[in-house]
Amino acid sequence: MNHYPVIEIPFNHRACCWFCGEPKDKTINFPKYSSEESMLTHKPICLPSCKECATIVQRTAFSSLYGYRDAIKQALAVKHQKLLSIGSNWTKQELEESEFEGSAFEGFKRSAWFMFEMIQGRINYQGWELVVANEKLILEQQYESFNFDGVTYVKLDDAITHAVKTFHLDEELFTRVLSVVGKEKFAHAIRLCRLYPMLNSKTREAVFLDIREGLGL
Ligand SMILES: [Zn+2]
Repeated sequence: MNHYPVIEIPFNHRACCWFCGEPKDKTINFPKYSSEESMLTHKPICLPSCKECATIVQRTAFSSLYGYRDAIKQALAVKHQKLLSIGSNWTKQELEESEFEGSAFEGFKRSAWFMFEMIQGRINYQGWELVVANEKLILEQQYESFNFDGVTYVKLDDAITHAVKTFHLDEELFTRVLSVVGKEKFAHAIRLCRLYPMLNSKTREAVFLDIREGLGL
């Protein structure tokens, strides 16, 4: 049941989820409960959403729609981590030229890149301007996004979690190396740490010092 004003929907977006661009399933209230209106820094609204975006985050109280959107994107990135890893492990061309054996792999090859691009598109999707009754809704942008392998993660932390899972990195080593090389060299930090997947505290320290020395730092 909608009880807030519905945002204006441009004609070319009339069937889209505002969060991810997929076909919309319904119009949702934001905030979900009227008791949460007091937390909001802008007017309560109704907006179109697909079923997955509407249900993937359990928490309902946010200070703005952007906070809620960030939570949705983070949840999508976690849930579809395996699909996102396709784009980190392969390029489209590599995948097409790879010689997998067996029918299961043929099926994987055919669908993998398509599936990756689909989830990449949903996570990177930015919605459209929020206008209610001819009035632009002003929302504070409150996140520092980080781009890696063509996917915009809500936070650097989320890209780190993705990299650790995809490349089986030692999280402690990777974050330490990253702090030394800088987030601009994110891919380089991955390459350095991929060589050392299994570490204990003693070997980790030695490896870290080795890497640092190798970097001339
Ligand atoms: Zn959606």
